Amino acid sequence: MATKFPDAPKIGMVSLGCPKNLVDSERILTKLRSDGYQMSPDYAGADVVLVNTCGFLDSAKEESLEAIGEAMAENGRVIVTGCMGDEADVIRAKFPQVLAVTGAHQYEQVVNAVHDASPPIPNAFVDLVPEGGLKLTPRHYSYLKISEGCNHRCSFCIIPSIRGDLVSRRIDAVLREAEKLVQAGTKELLVISQDTSAYGVDTRHDPRLWKGREVRAHMTDLARELGQLRTADDVAPWVRLHYVYPYPHVDHVIPLMADGLLTPYLDIPFQHAAPSVLKAMKRPANEAKVLDRIHKWRAICPDITIRSTFVVGFPGETEADFQYLLDWLDEAQLDRVGAFRFEPVEGAPANALPGALPEEVKEERYQRIMEKTAAISAAKLQAKIGRVLPVIIDEVGEPDEEDGSVGATARSQADAPEIDGNVFLRDVGEGRRAGDIFDVVIEDADEHDLYGAPVQD
Ligand code: SF4
Repeated sequence: MATKFPDAPKIGMVSLGCPKNLVDSERILTKLRSDGYQMSPDYAGADVVLVNTCGFLDSAKEESLEAIGEAMAENGRVIVTGCMGDEADVIRAKFPQVLAVTGAHQYEQVVNAVHDASPPIPNAFVDLVPEGGLKLTPRHYSYLKISEGCNHRCSFCIIPSIRGDLVSRRIDAVLREAEKLVQAGTKELLVISQDTSAYGVDTRHDPRLWKGREVRAHMTDLARELGQLRTADDVAPWVRLHYVYPYPHVDHVIPLMADGLLTPYLDIPFQHAAPSVLKAMKRPANEAKVLDRIHKWRAICPDITIRSTFVVGFPGETEADFQYLLDWLDEAQLDRVGAFRFEPVEGAPANALPGALPEEVKEERYQRIMEKTAAISAAKLQAKIGRVLPVIIDEVGEPDEEDGSVGATARSQADAPEIDGNVFLRDVGEGRRAGDIFDVVIEDADEHDLYGAPVQD
């Protein structure tokens, strides 16, 4: 008679917020899988639901509270973790029945809370964890977190008070994780942290041995080593740097992009351009020569894509400051821009700054910056029509009912997943899969996306 094992307890997970939070969710789930838990795709089948919250903006807190409310209503056995977990009293006041509340990065506490709520089956002897850990992102791209926390104190941000000062991971550990991910099928690595250019500042760029060479915990060394990884079929994965500040040493990674070792893409959250606003924001690497540097970067690597985010309506921002920002954008010609209306975050010093602006002014400036950046983006994308560009497939479509042709949603090197545009492809042919990288001809463009077809041999 076959031995009947009891069913493993099932965990549901709701992951809110930024990619960094998603990485935390993956880590928690990887640990729970190795402890013998299974995942539940819905509330009904879950023995416990984990809600990994975001508490960055008041609107994110609202969303987190809504998600907790939904999980309570649908399942009732809920553990809350993540950034909003630092406000346990707010959560408990609203949902006294939650089983446990733990804060950001308290992996052990959250795993222990799950063990208490729904004990694991002892001696689960099957290795349930896939090679490379459990991932919530599609197999072909992965976030690679290189540090936690931040040494800056931007006046609108509470991340340092939630996550603490910068703590960098060892370079050999980061590279080992990246290598495993690439061996397990990752074709695109997205390097994330709160401040990628500050990597290793806290450890004095602690050098370690990697493949017989000494490498420092430094963005340039990291970028160079990541650029040398290869998949099992000898494909060079795309390597994208996110949350980079324009410190002088950023200039050293641009030649790596020109040489094809790094994806020619920089995500630099400038947030503003007017000196007085940047000063009030207490932004790092806030210096006047950024425009010159951008021009130099483009001279070295003409195809570089620069993505950024901006906050409009910051306290004290005058019409002249805002106009300065619009003129700066005309000059900088950034490829991808996200804009936000300033929103006070509980506990952030910026809330006490004089000169808070009425909502109508924020809204009007927001509309103007969106119009400006959409026009720049549209012109840049138009200029790509007729070019041959490499793309990576995110999803292959169903065959057309009439002629059987298959389309796909892909991205170019200028598009980070989930935040930038797409390249919509027609007639990709049989046998294409998510993660395939190949050349396409760009046939059309709109404000944010491109349209094309594979290059015919
Ligand atoms: S750099 Fe500024 S905005 Fe970014 S996490 Fe640090 S303090 Fe916050």
